[in-house]
Amino acid sequence: MQPDLQAMLADLRALVEIESPSTDPVAVSRVMDAVEGRAKGLGAVTHALPGGTRRFDFGVDGAGQPILVLTHADTVWPTGTLGTMPFRVEGDRVYGPGTYDMKAGIVGLLHALRALGGEWPRGGVQVLLTPDEEVGSHSSREAIEAAARGARAVLVVEPPVADTHALKVGRKGTGYFRLTFHGVASHAGNKPEEGASAITEAARAVLEVQALARPEVGTTVSVGLIRGGSAANVIPAECVFDVDVRVSTLAEADRVEAGVAALRPADPRVRLEVTGGLNRPPFERGPGTEALFKQAQAIARDLGFEVGGEVVGGGSDGNFTAPLAPTLDGLGAPGDGAHAAHEHVRLDRWPDHVRLLTRLLREV
Ligand SMILES: [Zn+2]
Repeated sequence: MQPDLQAMLADLRALVEIESPSTDPVAVSRVMDAVEGRAKGLGAVTHALPGGTRRFDFGVDGAGQPILVLTHADTVWPTGTLGTMPFRVEGDRVYGPGTYDMKAGIVGLLHALRALGGEWPRGGVQVLLTPDEEVGSHSSREAIEAAARGARAVLVVEPPVADTHALKVGRKGTGYFRLTFHGVASHAGNKPEEGASAITEAARAVLEVQALARPEVGTTVSVGLIRGGSAANVIPAECVFDVDVRVSTLAEADRVEAGVAALRPADPRVRLEVTGGLNRPPFERGPGTEALFKQAQAIARDLGFEVGGEVVGGGSDGNFTAPLAPTLDGLGAPGDGAHAAHEHVRLDRWPDHVRLLTRLLREV
Protein backbone atom coordinates (compact mmCIF):
# COMPACT_ATOMS: atom_id res chain seq x y z
CA MET A 1 0.00 0.00 0.00
CA GLN A 2 2.21 2.84 -1.28
CA PRO A 3 0.62 6.29 -1.58
CA ASP A 4 0.75 7.77 -5.09
CA LEU A 5 3.28 10.58 -4.64
CA GLN A 6 2.71 12.05 -8.11
CA ALA A 7 -1.03 12.32 -7.46
CA MET A 8 -0.34 13.84 -4.03
CA LEU A 9 1.96 16.43 -5.62
CA ALA A 10 -0.67 17.33 -8.23
CA ASP A 11 -3.29 17.82 -5.48
CA LEU A 12 -0.83 19.85 -3.42
CA ARG A 13 -0.03 22.08 -6.37
CA ALA A 14 -3.75 22.71 -6.96
CA LEU A 15 -4.28 23.79 -3.34
CA VAL A 16 -1.09 25.85 -3.00
CA GLU A 17 -1.78 27.74 -6.22
CA ILE A 18 -5.03 28.98 -4.71
CA GLU A 19 -3.57 31.51 -2.27
CA SER A 20 -5.60 31.70 0.94
CA PRO A 21 -4.56 34.26 3.55
CA SER A 22 -6.74 34.15 6.70
CA THR A 23 -7.79 37.75 6.01
CA ASP A 24 -9.48 36.84 2.69
CA PRO A 25 -12.53 34.62 3.32
CA VAL A 26 -13.39 34.41 -0.39
CA ALA A 27 -9.93 33.04 -1.23
CA VAL A 28 -10.07 30.65 1.73
CA SER A 29 -13.44 29.34 0.56
CA ARG A 30 -11.95 28.62 -2.89
CA VAL A 31 -9.50 26.24 -1.22
CA MET A 32 -12.40 24.74 0.73
CA ASP A 33 -14.34 24.19 -2.51
CA ALA A 34 -11.37 22.34 -4.02
CA VAL A 35 -11.03 20.12 -0.95
CA GLU A 36 -14.79 19.55 -0.74
CA GLY A 37 -14.88 18.37 -4.35
CA ARG A 38 -12.21 15.78 -3.60
CA ALA A 39 -13.91 14.75 -0.33
CA LYS A 40 -17.20 14.18 -2.17
CA GLY A 41 -15.33 12.05 -4.68
CA LEU A 42 -14.31 9.85 -1.77
CA GLY A 43 -17.89 9.53 -0.54
CA ALA A 44 -18.16 12.34 2.00
CA VAL A 45 -21.41 13.90 3.09
CA THR A 46 -20.50 17.60 3.35
CA HIS A 47 -21.84 20.38 5.57
CA ALA A 48 -21.29 24.15 5.73
CA LEU A 49 -21.25 25.22 9.40
CA PRO A 50 -21.80 28.69 10.87
CA GLY A 51 -18.55 30.68 11.00
CA GLY A 52 -17.26 29.44 7.65
CA THR A 53 -16.09 25.97 8.75
CA ARG A 54 -16.88 22.94 6.58
CA ARG A 55 -17.46 19.41 7.83
CA PHE A 56 -16.96 16.29 5.74
CA ASP A 57 -18.44 13.06 7.12
CA PHE A 58 -17.08 9.72 5.93
CA GLY A 59 -19.22 6.78 7.05
CA VAL A 60 -20.57 8.68 10.07
CA ASP A 61 -23.62 6.58 10.98
CA GLY A 62 -24.23 7.23 14.67
CA ALA A 63 -23.22 3.64 15.46
CA GLY A 64 -20.23 4.87 17.45
CA GLN A 65 -18.23 7.99 18.14
CA PRO A 66 -16.32 9.13 15.05
CA ILE A 67 -12.65 9.96 14.75
CA LEU A 68 -12.33 13.73 14.31
CA VAL A 69 -9.61 15.12 12.03
CA LEU A 70 -8.73 18.84 12.18
CA THR A 71 -7.50 20.76 9.13
CA HIS A 72 -7.35 24.46 8.22
CA ALA A 73 -7.53 26.07 4.78
CA ASP A 74 -5.93 29.42 5.61
CA THR A 75 -2.24 30.34 5.49
CA VAL A 76 -0.16 33.21 6.87
CA TRP A 77 0.88 34.25 3.34
CA PRO A 78 -0.63 37.33 1.65
CA THR A 79 -1.98 37.11 -1.89
CA GLY A 80 0.86 37.56 -4.37
CA THR A 81 3.41 35.51 -2.39
CA LEU A 82 3.48 32.94 -5.23
CA GLY A 83 5.23 35.61 -7.32
CA THR A 84 8.36 35.35 -5.18
CA MET A 85 7.81 31.91 -3.62
CA PRO A 86 6.33 29.77 -6.42
CA PHE A 87 5.26 26.15 -5.97
CA ARG A 88 8.31 24.18 -7.04
CA VAL A 89 9.95 20.78 -6.56
CA GLU A 90 13.69 20.78 -5.91
CA GLY A 91 15.19 17.36 -5.32
CA ASP A 92 13.28 15.72 -2.50
CA ARG A 93 11.60 18.93 -1.33
CA VAL A 94 8.53 20.78 -2.49
CA TYR A 95 8.43 24.51 -1.72
CA GLY A 96 5.68 27.08 -1.66
CA PRO A 97 3.45 29.14 0.64
CA GLY A 98 1.29 26.91 2.84
CA THR A 99 2.84 23.65 1.66
CA TYR A 100 4.04 22.48 5.09
CA ASP A 101 1.45 24.45 7.12
CA MET A 102 -0.81 22.74 6.20
CA LYS A 103 -1.99 22.11 2.66
CA ALA A 104 0.14 18.96 2.42
CA GLY A 105 -1.56 17.84 5.65
CA ILE A 106 -4.94 18.14 3.91
CA VAL A 107 -3.69 16.31 0.81
CA GLY A 108 -2.10 13.54 2.89
CA LEU A 109 -5.40 13.10 4.74
CA LEU A 110 -7.36 12.81 1.47
CA HIS A 111 -4.96 10.13 0.26
CA ALA A 112 -5.12 8.30 3.60
CA LEU A 113 -8.92 8.31 3.34
CA ARG A 114 -8.71 7.02 -0.23
CA ALA A 115 -6.47 4.17 0.96
CA LEU A 116 -9.25 3.01 3.31
CA GLY A 117 -11.11 1.97 0.14
CA GLY A 118 -14.54 2.91 1.48
CA GLU A 119 -14.14 0.77 4.61
CA TRP A 120 -14.67 3.42 7.24
CA PRO A 121 -13.79 2.75 10.86
CA ARG A 122 -16.51 2.21 13.46
CA GLY A 123 -18.40 5.52 13.87
CA GLY A 124 -16.76 6.94 10.76
CA VAL A 125 -14.39 9.84 10.23
CA GLN A 126 -15.42 13.45 10.62
CA VAL A 127 -13.14 16.09 9.06
CA LEU A 128 -13.33 19.77 9.96
CA LEU A 129 -11.82 22.29 7.54
CA THR A 130 -11.59 25.69 9.24
CA PRO A 131 -10.93 29.18 7.82
CA ASP A 132 -8.99 31.02 10.54
CA GLU A 133 -6.53 28.82 12.45
CA GLU A 134 -3.61 31.15 11.78
CA VAL A 135 -5.39 34.10 13.41
CA GLY A 136 -6.72 32.39 16.55
CA SER A 137 -9.76 30.37 15.28
CA HIS A 138 -12.30 32.87 16.62
CA SER A 139 -14.98 31.91 14.08
CA SER A 140 -14.35 28.14 14.21
CA ARG A 141 -13.69 27.42 17.89
CA GLU A 142 -17.30 26.58 18.68
CA ALA A 143 -17.56 24.06 15.84
CA ILE A 144 -14.23 22.50 16.83
CA GLU A 145 -15.23 22.07 20.47
CA ALA A 146 -18.69 20.73 19.61
CA ALA A 147 -17.19 18.11 17.29
CA ALA A 148 -14.52 17.14 19.83
CA ARG A 149 -17.14 16.51 22.51
CA GLY A 150 -18.63 13.77 20.35
CA ALA A 151 -15.37 12.25 19.09
CA ARG A 152 -13.51 9.22 20.43
CA ALA A 153 -10.16 10.63 19.26
CA VAL A 154 -8.89 13.76 17.55
CA LEU A 155 -6.12 13.65 14.96
CA VAL A 156 -4.62 17.00 13.92
CA VAL A 157 -2.82 17.10 10.57
CA GLU A 158 -0.63 20.06 11.41
CA PRO A 159 2.95 19.25 10.39
CA PRO A 160 5.30 17.20 12.59
CA VAL A 161 8.05 19.06 14.48
CA ALA A 162 10.30 20.87 11.97
CA ASP A 163 12.79 18.67 10.16
CA THR A 164 11.99 15.56 12.21
CA HIS A 165 9.51 12.68 12.33
CA ALA A 166 8.31 13.89 15.76
CA LEU A 167 4.59 14.14 16.45
CA LYS A 168 3.17 16.80 18.76
CA VAL A 169 1.93 15.43 22.09
CA GLY A 170 1.38 18.76 23.82
CA ARG A 171 1.39 22.47 23.10
CA LYS A 172 1.65 25.53 25.24
CA GLY A 173 -1.43 27.64 25.75
CA THR A 174 -1.26 31.03 24.09
CA GLY A 175 -2.45 34.36 25.38
CA TYR A 176 -2.33 37.93 24.24
CA PHE A 177 -2.83 41.17 26.17
CA ARG A 178 -2.97 44.77 25.06
CA LEU A 179 -2.24 47.40 27.73
CA THR A 180 -3.29 50.96 26.93
CA PHE A 181 -2.13 53.81 29.22
CA HIS A 182 -4.10 57.05 29.12
CA GLY A 183 -2.10 59.96 30.61
CA VAL A 184 -2.37 63.74 30.44
CA ALA A 185 -0.67 65.76 27.68
CA SER A 186 1.19 68.95 28.46
CA HIS A 187 4.01 71.16 27.13
CA ALA A 188 7.24 69.37 28.03
CA GLY A 189 9.12 72.66 28.53
CA ASN A 190 6.61 75.14 29.93
CA LYS A 191 4.26 72.98 32.06
CA PRO A 192 5.71 69.49 32.53
CA GLU A 193 4.14 69.23 36.00
CA GLU A 194 0.65 69.46 34.49
CA GLY A 195 1.29 66.39 32.37
CA ALA A 196 1.09 62.71 33.36
CA SER A 197 3.32 60.59 31.14
CA ALA A 198 1.71 57.47 29.70
CA ILE A 199 5.14 56.38 28.45
CA THR A 200 6.70 56.48 31.94
CA GLU A 201 3.93 54.31 33.34
CA ALA A 202 4.08 51.92 30.39
CA ALA A 203 7.85 51.59 30.72
CA ARG A 204 7.48 50.56 34.35
CA ALA A 205 4.71 48.12 33.44
CA VAL A 206 6.75 46.48 30.66
CA LEU A 207 9.24 45.28 33.26
CA GLU A 208 6.52 44.28 35.72
CA VAL A 209 4.65 42.26 33.08
CA GLN A 210 7.77 40.49 31.86
CA ALA A 211 8.65 39.62 35.47
CA LEU A 212 5.55 37.38 35.44
CA ALA A 213 7.49 34.89 33.25
CA ARG A 214 8.50 31.60 34.86
CA PRO A 215 10.55 29.84 32.19
CA GLU A 216 11.35 27.00 34.60
CA VAL A 217 7.70 25.87 34.36
CA GLY A 218 7.30 26.86 30.71
CA THR A 219 5.71 30.30 31.14
CA THR A 220 7.08 32.94 28.80
CA VAL A 221 5.95 36.58 28.66
CA SER A 222 7.19 38.97 25.99
CA VAL A 223 6.24 42.55 25.19
CA GLY A 224 6.63 42.48 21.41
CA LEU A 225 5.19 45.78 20.28
CA ILE A 226 5.03 49.24 21.83
CA ARG A 227 4.04 52.68 20.63
CA GLY A 228 3.25 55.98 22.31
CA GLY A 229 3.60 59.74 22.40
CA SER A 230 2.99 62.38 19.77
CA ALA A 231 6.13 64.58 19.76
CA ALA A 232 9.34 64.93 21.75
CA ASN A 233 8.18 68.22 23.31
CA VAL A 234 4.82 66.87 24.51
CA ILE A 235 4.30 64.90 27.74
CA PRO A 236 2.74 61.77 26.19
CA ALA A 237 -0.98 61.22 26.73
CA GLU A 238 -1.02 57.69 25.37
CA CYS A 239 1.11 54.57 25.22
CA VAL A 240 0.09 51.04 24.13
CA PHE A 241 1.94 47.74 24.27
CA ASP A 242 1.13 44.16 23.23
CA VAL A 243 2.16 41.10 25.21
CA ASP A 244 2.60 37.50 24.03
CA VAL A 245 2.09 34.88 26.78
CA ARG A 246 2.74 31.10 26.59
CA VAL A 247 1.88 28.70 29.40
CA SER A 248 2.10 24.96 29.99
CA THR A 249 -0.73 24.75 32.54
CA LEU A 250 -4.07 26.44 33.21
CA ALA A 251 -2.88 27.36 36.71
CA GLU A 252 -0.08 29.40 35.15
CA ALA A 253 -2.54 31.07 32.78
CA ASP A 254 -4.63 32.13 35.78
CA ARG A 255 -1.56 33.40 37.64
CA VAL A 256 -0.40 35.55 34.70
CA GLU A 257 -3.92 36.85 34.07
CA ALA A 258 -4.22 37.86 37.75
CA GLY A 259 -0.79 39.50 37.63
CA VAL A 260 -1.75 41.61 34.64
CA ALA A 261 -5.10 42.54 36.20
CA ALA A 262 -3.32 43.70 39.38
CA LEU A 263 -1.15 46.28 37.60
CA ARG A 264 -1.73 49.87 38.77
CA PRO A 265 -0.03 52.99 37.41
CA ALA A 266 2.06 54.78 40.07
CA ASP A 267 0.66 58.16 38.96
CA PRO A 268 -3.09 58.15 39.73
CA ARG A 269 -3.72 60.53 36.85
CA VAL A 270 -2.80 57.74 34.40
CA ARG A 271 -5.54 55.27 33.61
CA LEU A 272 -4.75 51.72 32.48
CA GLU A 273 -7.03 49.71 30.21
CA VAL A 274 -6.37 45.97 29.64
CA THR A 275 -7.85 43.81 26.89
CA GLY A 276 -7.13 40.25 25.80
CA GLY A 277 -6.45 37.10 27.77
CA LEU A 278 -5.83 33.42 27.18
CA ASN A 279 -6.70 32.51 23.57
CA ARG A 280 -5.87 28.82 23.33
CA PRO A 281 -5.73 26.78 26.56
CA PRO A 282 -2.67 24.61 27.09
CA PHE A 283 -2.75 21.20 25.41
CA GLU A 284 -1.40 19.18 28.32
CA ARG A 285 0.17 15.79 27.65
CA GLY A 286 -2.47 13.55 29.23
CA PRO A 287 -3.11 9.77 29.28
CA GLY A 288 -5.44 9.90 26.22
CA THR A 289 -2.77 11.59 24.12
CA GLU A 290 -0.13 9.26 25.49
CA ALA A 291 -2.13 6.18 24.42
CA LEU A 292 -2.63 7.57 20.89
CA PHE A 293 1.05 8.42 20.67
CA LYS A 294 2.11 4.92 21.76
CA GLN A 295 -0.20 3.48 19.10
CA ALA A 296 1.28 5.79 16.42
CA GLN A 297 4.79 4.90 17.51
CA ALA A 298 4.07 1.15 17.23
CA ILE A 299 2.50 1.57 13.78
CA ALA A 300 5.44 3.66 12.53
CA ARG A 301 7.89 1.04 13.78
CA ASP A 302 5.86 -1.60 11.97
CA LEU A 303 6.10 0.55 8.81
CA GLY A 304 9.86 0.82 9.23
CA PHE A 305 10.46 4.25 10.74
CA GLU A 306 10.62 5.89 14.15
CA VAL A 307 8.45 8.78 15.36
CA GLY A 308 9.22 10.89 18.42
CA GLY A 309 6.79 12.92 20.50
CA GLU A 310 7.41 16.52 21.57
CA VAL A 311 5.66 19.29 23.46
CA VAL A 312 5.94 22.53 21.48
CA GLY A 313 5.46 26.24 22.20
CA GLY A 314 3.15 27.10 19.31
CA GLY A 315 -0.60 26.56 19.55
CA SER A 316 -3.04 24.85 17.17
CA ASP A 317 -6.70 23.87 17.19
CA GLY A 318 -5.56 20.75 19.06
CA ASN A 319 -5.36 23.04 22.10
CA PHE A 320 -9.16 23.34 22.02
CA THR A 321 -9.80 19.59 21.68
CA ALA A 322 -7.18 18.18 24.09
CA PRO A 323 -9.28 18.95 27.21
CA LEU A 324 -12.33 17.30 25.55
CA ALA A 325 -11.05 14.17 23.76
CA PRO A 326 -7.76 12.26 23.35
CA THR A 327 -5.77 14.36 20.84
CA LEU A 328 -2.65 13.65 18.79
CA ASP A 329 -1.13 16.44 16.70
CA GLY A 330 1.60 16.66 14.06
CA LEU A 331 0.12 14.01 11.75
CA GLY A 332 0.57 16.14 8.63
CA ALA A 333 3.47 16.26 6.20
CA PRO A 334 7.10 16.40 7.40
CA GLY A 335 9.21 19.36 6.34
CA ASP A 336 10.37 22.70 7.68
CA GLY A 337 9.98 26.48 7.45
CA ALA A 338 6.45 27.16 8.70
CA HIS A 339 5.68 30.87 8.24
CA ALA A 340 9.14 31.32 6.62
CA ALA A 341 10.43 31.78 3.07
CA HIS A 342 11.99 28.30 2.97
CA GLU A 343 8.69 26.55 3.80
CA HIS A 344 8.78 23.06 2.30
CA VAL A 345 7.66 19.44 2.56
CA ARG A 346 10.03 16.45 2.42
CA LEU A 347 8.91 14.21 -0.42
CA ASP A 348 11.15 11.35 0.71
CA ARG A 349 9.41 11.22 4.12
CA TRP A 350 5.87 12.26 3.23
CA PRO A 351 4.51 8.87 2.00
CA ASP A 352 5.52 7.20 5.28
CA HIS A 353 3.47 9.72 7.24
CA VAL A 354 0.45 9.16 4.97
CA ARG A 355 0.72 5.42 5.61
CA LEU A 356 0.91 6.11 9.35
CA LEU A 357 -2.23 8.27 9.17
CA THR A 358 -4.05 5.60 7.14
CA ARG A 359 -3.30 2.97 9.75
CA LEU A 360 -4.37 5.28 12.59
CA LEU A 361 -7.70 6.00 10.87
CA ARG A 362 -8.23 2.27 10.56
CA GLU A 363 -7.04 1.20 14.02
CA VAL A 364 -7.71 3.97 16.56
ZN1 LIG B 1 -1.19 25.19 10.73
